[in-house]
Amino acid sequence: MLNHHDQAGLFQNLVLSVGTVLDLKSLLKQLAAQVNIHLPASQCLILVADEDDPVLRFGALHPAPSDTRTQQMLESLSLGLFNSSSPIIADWIAGNPFTLTAENTADQPELGWLLTMMAVDEVVGQPLMNRDELVGVILLALNEEGGEALESRLAAVTAAGALTIQNARIYSRTVHQAEAHMRELTILRQIDRELNDTIEPHHVFQMTLDWALRFTNAQAASIGLYDQETDELRIITTYGYDTSLEELQYLRAQSSSIAHRVARSGRAEIIPNVADDKDYIRGANQTQSQLSVPIRREDRVISVISVESKKLNGFSDEHLDFVEKLAARAGVAIDNARLFDTTAREREKLSHILNNTADVVIVLGLDERLILINPAAFSALRLYPYENYVGRRFEEIFPNTPLMDAYKRAQNGTDPLVEEVEVASGRIFHMNVTTQENVGRIIVMHDITPFKEMDRLKSELIATVSHDLKQPLAVMNGYIELLLMHRKLDENGLGFLDMVRKSIQSMRQLIDDLLDLAKIESGIQLNMEPVDVKSLVDDCLESLQPNILGKALRVVADIPDDLPFLLADRARFQQILLNLTSNAVKYTQTDGEIQIRAEHRDKMVHIVVKDNGMGISAEDQTHIFERFYRVRRPETDNIEGTGLGLAIVKSLVEAHKGQIGLESRLGEGTQFFLKLPVAVDDPTVVSA
Ligand code: ADP
Repeated sequence: MLNHHDQAGLFQNLVLSVGTVLDLKSLLKQLAAQVNIHLPASQCLILVADEDDPVLRFGALHPAPSDTRTQQMLESLSLGLFNSSSPIIADWIAGNPFTLTAENTADQPELGWLLTMMAVDEVVGQPLMNRDELVGVILLALNEEGGEALESRLAAVTAAGALTIQNARIYSRTVHQAEAHMRELTILRQIDRELNDTIEPHHVFQMTLDWALRFTNAQAASIGLYDQETDELRIITTYGYDTSLEELQYLRAQSSSIAHRVARSGRAEIIPNVADDKDYIRGANQTQSQLSVPIRREDRVISVISVESKKLNGFSDEHLDFVEKLAARAGVAIDNARLFDTTAREREKLSHILNNTADVVIVLGLDERLILINPAAFSALRLYPYENYVGRRFEEIFPNTPLMDAYKRAQNGTDPLVEEVEVASGRIFHMNVTTQENVGRIIVMHDITPFKEMDRLKSELIATVSHDLKQPLAVMNGYIELLLMHRKLDENGLGFLDMVRKSIQSMRQLIDDLLDLAKIESGIQLNMEPVDVKSLVDDCLESLQPNILGKALRVVADIPDDLPFLLADRARFQQILLNLTSNAVKYTQTDGEIQIRAEHRDKMVHIVVKDNGMGISAEDQTHIFERFYRVRRPETDNIEGTGLGLAIVKSLVEAHKGQIGLESRLGEGTQFFLKLPVAVDDPTVVSA
């Protein structure tokens, strides 16, 4: 009798001798041989459970059959486990030892056949179990009667067999999985490489389609671009379809499709049998099953890839997994390709615009060197057509020109710089220089020569017409004087005549203003000299005295004694001052207050004319300096004016290289700020 020690020894022995064999076929062969050594058996047959199907297949026979026919027949064995009504097989599944004899297999030919193969009348056997699962069966043709010792040895052999088979299986499964994983990784790496190298969208789609077809063994495939906003899916590339792209597009526009469904839900789908899917639209005649996977970019579905198989149930979870990985990569590549495409198109558009615009466009980099110059610049600025100016400095190209002077002002911090510049050809350009962070300076120049000419003609026309209008007015005035001298008019007549005189007066004012403006705008000659602000303010207030008194206005003039002299045209400066102050008087109600203050700051004299009158709305403020602009409000109804005063003031201030601005609130008052350059820093020098 075999004790436990011997049983354990045999188990260990077997595991040690065959346990390192990891190839299942060789393992079974060696196991069968070992069994023959350790047990009194003439033959040992091992059947092994199939991993995928519930059948037993031939594992090994020792000694191996001498004729190849028996070998072949054994190799083709497939013994169904669950569809059998055999009580013996039921025993195997339960893990019970058994005996096969001619008698007990008489009505189970598939088991009787095993006896035939081994050419014996009887075999004893033991199922190989692993955690209650049948992994194989060991069958022995014994040389001698069995007994307890044999049973015990057989138990050790069975345990060792089950364990080693399981190990070999786990090993082969692991190797298989690792190999599949490696293969997949290799493919994905290659896909990454190829997709990275491609920026042409169509190529990306084509490649994605290719890889999906290859990996899933599909017969047909398509890719559609999805627009989430319009919910439109547009097929852009297909493979293996019998239907044309146009036809397919038409069919898909008529109804939904599986791909469209996937685009909307964002969830991949395997359709094992397309005949059962109401959304399926036939593109390839033999398609039986389909796999559709969304391609996403930043949480949006941008595209759907579909593969179709001739087989029912043609797609596995592995296929799905792979196509999803492919989709993730394609998403990035499609995005890159689109971005590149858009950038290229934008660049093309921009270069088209730059090449065809009549405006001069020059861009300088942060290092002050030219990075872009458009064709218009060449002709406008008289540059050599075949010279390369890119990389050069502005002063190298335009030394000692008004253009360079303007550019210097931009360099010194005027941003944006807006100026009129006359270039070498004599044409006048409106020049705009802006500084763009991280880019540099952008110069855009628009030719305003025709407008300048038109403006000159207009001023000339106004001057001529105005002059001609003044003539009859003078005559009218003369006759009014004569009528008055006749003294034959009654009260009413005198009143009418006064009204005519007032109308002539305001018409004259209008004509004078028009003439004046035309003169200033056509470039007046200013007679610049040091001007004492204080005395001019006094003059101005004196001339307005009747109006000030008439409205009982309080006037505060605060002009420091040490205020430097201005560099200005005395008469024109007086005109500026008078205009602003008379406006303050005109647009301030009775009992109001007017202030005139001046101070010296940064080589400029700052003058403020302030009132607490009716004020100007923000909207009106933007137009206030335009010609003929008058505020239309109930309270301005009875105030006479031409709307030319401030336009004249602004032109004059600018001719003096000064600046004017205002701050006002409706109903609260207005203050105009004026800034003009001082004659010299020390007023005593001038007055001396
Ligand atoms: P006007 O001949 O009408 O006074 P201006 O060019 O001098 O023409 O002024 C334009 C408009 O600006 C005026 O019609 C008036 O409505 C408004 N305005 C000018 N100065 C003042 C002020 N100090 N307060 C309120 N409104 C003013």
